[in-house]
Amino acid sequence: MKLPYIGILLLLVFGCCWITSDAAPKSQRASSSCGYASCTPSKPGVINVHVVPHTHDDVGWLKTVDQYYYGSKTGYQRAGVQYIIDSVIKELVKDPARRFIYVEMAFFSQWWQEQTEEKKAVVKQLVEEGRLEFINGGWCMNDEAGTHYNDIIDQMTWGMRFLNDTFGECGRPRIGWQIDPFGHSREQASIFASMGFDGVFFGRIDWVDRSQRKANKEMEMIWHTSNSPGEQSSIFTGIFYEHYSAPNGFCFDVVCRDEPFIDNPKSADYNVVKKVNDLVAHIKAKALSYATSNIMLTMGDDFNYMSADMNFKNMDKMIRYTNELGNGVNLFYSTPSCYVKAINDEAGSRPWPTKTDDFFPYSNDPHAYWTGYFTSRPAYKGTVRKANTFLQSCKQLHSLAGADSSADGQHLIDSLRRSMGEAQHHDAVAGTEKEHVSQDYRLRLHDSVVDCQQDVSNSFSKMLPIGSQPLPQQEFCLHLNVSQCAITESSSRFTVTAYNPRSHEVTTYVRLPVTNGFYTVLDPDGSEMIIQLVPLVALQSIDAERPKSTATHELLFQAAKIPPLGHKTFYIIKTSTGRGQHSAIREKQQSTTVRRAKTGEKIAISNGKLLVNFDANGLIESIIVDGETVMMSQNLMWYAAMNEGNSNSIFDDRPSGAYIFRPNGTDATPIAMQATLIVQTGALVSEVHQKFSDWASQVVRVYKGQSDVEIEWTVGPIPVGDGIGKEIVSRVTTQIPSGGRFYTDSNGRQTLLRRRNFRPTWTLNVSEPVAGNYYPINSHIYVTDDEGNADTVVALVNDRSQGGTSLQDGQIELMVHRRLLYDDHFGVGEPLNEPGDGPGLVVRGTHYLLVNPSLAGIHPISLIRPLAQQMFMRPWLSFSSTSLSFTNWKNNFNMQKSGLRAPLPDNVHMLTLEPWRDGTHLLRLEHVYDIGEHSTLSEPVTLILDDLLADYTITSAVETTLGGNQWASEVSRLPWTTADDHQQPLKVSTKFQPVGKTSVTLLPMEIRTFIIQMTPND
Ligand SMILES: [Zn+2]
Repeated sequence: MKLPYIGILLLLVFGCCWITSDAAPKSQRASSSCGYASCTPSKPGVINVHVVPHTHDDVGWLKTVDQYYYGSKTGYQRAGVQYIIDSVIKELVKDPARRFIYVEMAFFSQWWQEQTEEKKAVVKQLVEEGRLEFINGGWCMNDEAGTHYNDIIDQMTWGMRFLNDTFGECGRPRIGWQIDPFGHSREQASIFASMGFDGVFFGRIDWVDRSQRKANKEMEMIWHTSNSPGEQSSIFTGIFYEHYSAPNGFCFDVVCRDEPFIDNPKSADYNVVKKVNDLVAHIKAKALSYATSNIMLTMGDDFNYMSADMNFKNMDKMIRYTNELGNGVNLFYSTPSCYVKAINDEAGSRPWPTKTDDFFPYSNDPHAYWTGYFTSRPAYKGTVRKANTFLQSCKQLHSLAGADSSADGQHLIDSLRRSMGEAQHHDAVAGTEKEHVSQDYRLRLHDSVVDCQQDVSNSFSKMLPIGSQPLPQQEFCLHLNVSQCAITESSSRFTVTAYNPRSHEVTTYVRLPVTNGFYTVLDPDGSEMIIQLVPLVALQSIDAERPKSTATHELLFQAAKIPPLGHKTFYIIKTSTGRGQHSAIREKQQSTTVRRAKTGEKIAISNGKLLVNFDANGLIESIIVDGETVMMSQNLMWYAAMNEGNSNSIFDDRPSGAYIFRPNGTDATPIAMQATLIVQTGALVSEVHQKFSDWASQVVRVYKGQSDVEIEWTVGPIPVGDGIGKEIVSRVTTQIPSGGRFYTDSNGRQTLLRRRNFRPTWTLNVSEPVAGNYYPINSHIYVTDDEGNADTVVALVNDRSQGGTSLQDGQIELMVHRRLLYDDHFGVGEPLNEPGDGPGLVVRGTHYLLVNPSLAGIHPISLIRPLAQQMFMRPWLSFSSTSLSFTNWKNNFNMQKSGLRAPLPDNVHMLTLEPWRDGTHLLRLEHVYDIGEHSTLSEPVTLILDDLLADYTITSAVETTLGGNQWASEVSRLPWTTADDHQQPLKVSTKFQPVGKTSVTLLPMEIRTFIIQMTPND
């Protein structure tokens, strides 16, 4: 996305194995003329200016993905990607000196499919000569705040697989190019390093950080992206001088108004000397902030190059005349990878500064903190998170079923791979797109989920039958979160199959919307399960969301010990009367006691492990765990958004919007000081329904046997009739002396220390005390009482990405929803005011509150990680009606089975198992603990690959980089020297570990990727 006028002004002011060759990454086909071999060498004694022509093609923003590709709806934006690629190719062919980089495979792959063989041959030659280079190479340029690492790795992998299939080694990206995302995560950089990249560039860091780095020539550094020792997790990182656009006055694009080079000296408008002088002044100013004689000139912008002849004709002249007239500068066409190679060559053993934290939050003036988008479009963020769980399940089942893994055989999965790739774009899951674009994303995602559902059903049809009967079509209920599911509401005999995508056994509770009656739930052994029928307490706001539901209750039971990478089927019968022969059923069916709390009554609920006390106002007052009381309060509150028109200053007049969080200066206000309560208690779950208002409610639940408190919030439509935008937070306040410290995850993986009103590497002047302390939370946020030797921890684990902070010691808050009335002037051109079904969006989500007052030396994260993993990879339910008796069903279908021979060790997660090419599969194994997080689980762990799967022997496994597009044995990254507090300069160059024949050792937080062949066991 492009900065509009105001933004530009600001920038100016602040300045074993055997694998078939087809299945392999096509590294053997390297041409000697692509990659670093294609680079134009720098010259000594001058400023070498790498002219980098590029286009920034958002995979949806003001227009939908298709509208951008085809160039339609010019009223929104004049932008058509098909024309960009067409015209760039034509211009590249004209002159071998010209270069161009392309980034987004969502667009390029579509364009490629539409080309003739002749055109494809031309493009392949350009790629093999390094004239067209792919940078980043993911399906999109993903957001770094709202994305989970599983999603990032997948979307990068899918784009780079297209490149590898199409162009082989010359299509392999070497550089991360995150020029537009609004803040940069440590995990993202770690992922790039593990993909074998030699560097990453971006444009957006805090304006104060940038100005200090400029002054200190620290615009480029080596970023240590992991706590694990080992060189492979560090990466060269370059920050742009300003925006990623061309220098002021040098945008030669059809959408720009800058003057072209007018080089006829007789012309009254002759401007060569002036333009050269302007450019040289820009170059020399810029060179002062960079450490080597090389600088990069990014020549391009959003959707530039639709008429690439205009760009290249003028850039040709720019290069020629500046080299002729400009003293001491040397311009040439180049690429980001050639730039990195040039400075690596020049710097030699010169030490580079280092960085270990991240670049959040981003702000580009004292009042523009880009921390609102951490929460923007909360319903969509939740959908994306769930869709990832389903994509992983769908891919695992396809592999485990031995289903067709040819390209054609995977088409039902490909659809979701692509839509999830689009969803990670920095204006998609970020929530910073126009409303009509958001609707398009949701539709595309929904259609793809339906495709993958069919694939899952196909896989089950191959895997489950053991008798003569074919498996009934599996059905899926996407609206369980609003207690709506046609099959469970209307069938008197049905099965529910829970598939567990985790590598460990899982016990969870299943809640199914049903009508009142008596039910029998049989587990695979035929044992009757204890069930609890929980009445659906009418919540006005959510009823509108479930118009088709007839459910009056939820049928609740514990789905215990669902096998790892496996399924468990439960057989359910409804009987209408509950009399006579059903007396046995009634013993298993536990009732729920429901009552309305009296005003001022103090309520408590317990599950035996913990007890939650509510005060006389109906709010949580304390939690008792193991006999120890932790005093706390929790409430839903709202910030009043800054409106527009408060000031003449462009800084002071910034409203809260899709990108920006800017409360109006006051603290958050409780939605209500009192909640009315309905208390439901039973054998399996006890819950307190808190109603704060017609648009805000919660259910606080404790399930039998579980150590966390579930807080399900329902918020919306947020009232804005008073002309005030509102941003809703859930705030937990305790007395824990957290000393200004709190901890947040990085893309759901690493955990980073945050300090209130503080940045680790530069001096923060607190201009927005709330928004400037917000960080992206993908998985967890916690506070504890002592950094080294904590007694007590209070954590929230979330079910979607949100913004969060700790504004007072002992306090944590997460923003759950926002509805705003003004655009924040960063380009989207709409207030973030989601209509939902009309009156405003209603959102429901869950926080898992974890409290432990007696850590006794245990690292808090060792309690949080298992919970976070469980919430991230929840079992996926599918249903079928049946007329078969239980016995018949059991005789015909496998009701319980693991895809693994044994559960993986507690510190290992199988991040990826998916069909790859021509009978091979992609496997990723991940160590899920960091150094020092656990006395034993943080140790390296070794697995024997051959014996991993239950029904297959892994007969070959070859390690690749994280992206699956290069053999690990062929990785050779550029070496760098650093100036951090290591005893001696650290060489960052790496060789990945050699593959063991059958055993794989994972270091803390390490992910290892393999292309495997699976041979069925007989
Ligand atoms: Zn963008």
